[in-house]
Amino acid sequence: MKFPIDRFQSLKTPFYYYDLDLLTRTIDVAMDQAADPRYHIHYAVKANANPLVLAPIRDAGWGADCVSGNEVEAAVVNGFAPDSIVFAGVGKTDDEINYALGVGIGCFNVESLPELEVISQLATARGVTAKVAIRVNPDIDAHTHHYITTGLNENKFGIDLRHLDDVVDTALRLPGIKLVGLHFHIGSQLLDMEPYRLLCLKINELQAHFAEKGIQFPSINVGGGLGIDYDNPDANPIADFKSYFDVFRNNLHLGKNQQLHFELGRSIVAQCGSLISRVVYVKQGVEKQFAIIDAGMSDLLRPALYGAHHKIENITSADAAEEVYDVVGPICESSDVFGKDEKLPGLHRGDLVALRSAGAYGETMASRYNLRPIPASVGI
Ligand SMILES: *Cc1c(COP(=O)(O)O)cnc(C)c1O
Repeated sequence: MKFPIDRFQSLKTPFYYYDLDLLTRTIDVAMDQAADPRYHIHYAVKANANPLVLAPIRDAGWGADCVSGNEVEAAVVNGFAPDSIVFAGVGKTDDEINYALGVGIGCFNVESLPELEVISQLATARGVTAKVAIRVNPDIDAHTHHYITTGLNENKFGIDLRHLDDVVDTALRLPGIKLVGLHFHIGSQLLDMEPYRLLCLKINELQAHFAEKGIQFPSINVGGGLGIDYDNPDANPIADFKSYFDVFRNNLHLGKNQQLHFELGRSIVAQCGSLISRVVYVKQGVEKQFAIIDAGMSDLLRPALYGAHHKIENITSADAAEEVYDVVGPICESSDVFGKDEKLPGLHRGDLVALRSAGAYGETMASRYNLRPIPASVGI
């Protein structure tokens, strides 16, 4: 990636930089690959809720996938059509449900029987009907990091297959509820398409089962989770949307007039973002050399939270002779490390480094730990 270094010099580090041209190209490729009138993409707002990032996604006409009342509000405030908003999450509060009913969202992705009952009560009290999809836990192993798999029956998400018939029957019976479909989301950062193929087969099986009972769902939502290349962001700046959408095209049997919904987050926004930080000190340890930068886990939590690695680049002097560094943040936690034994062009105090592929689950996870400020952002 070519960074607009001149524009960076006057900005206070650390900050998130978004390459909005790459974002637009990514959206275009995803739209091309999903060009079927029955396919609908809802952007997963939790990946990045920065208005700079939301604007081109909204302009593409996509919906929003939200997991809190504040995310629903952010989607509405940023111009997403309320009826294109879907709302998942295992712990929706009454306030969140009431807010979503008030703005008239497109669908609640319901994760438990008690939640279904509460939505029914609150909708009935307001004299409205809540559109609902049942989030199913299909017990498919996405073979990804155990903190980011969501579709196994040991996870807290969704309705277990063994309880699904009961929950569907209840949804069809409860007042204030219109059952519109089934929802799935099996995990995140999936690069192998096999779990998605297995998901398609499972959905076909479930649809056949419900068809026998005379139940046909207007829509199926297969969630998100498509992964990106964190190691080689320049070689693969755009996720493999073709393979992803082909799996569903080739394996999922849609019924007549049935709509298929997708909820993509990371694959849309990860590669367009970098966290730009400045080297504060280069410190000689006993057997190590540390590059201490002014970004920490409060700005980009993924390495400390999941052991994730973001490619690190010296963007001030890319051609200097290489040396080996542990690249660490300033925060008082041993896990505040961005890279160990990183071979980088020689770093000096004041140099700028880029932590790549940080557009997803970066800025939205920033905290004020150590009373640090929330990082700024710039879109160019
Ligand atoms: C987080 C989430 C997504 C998006 O996942 P990505 O891996 O970012 O594509 C989609 N659906 C639900 C329900 C989610 O919680």
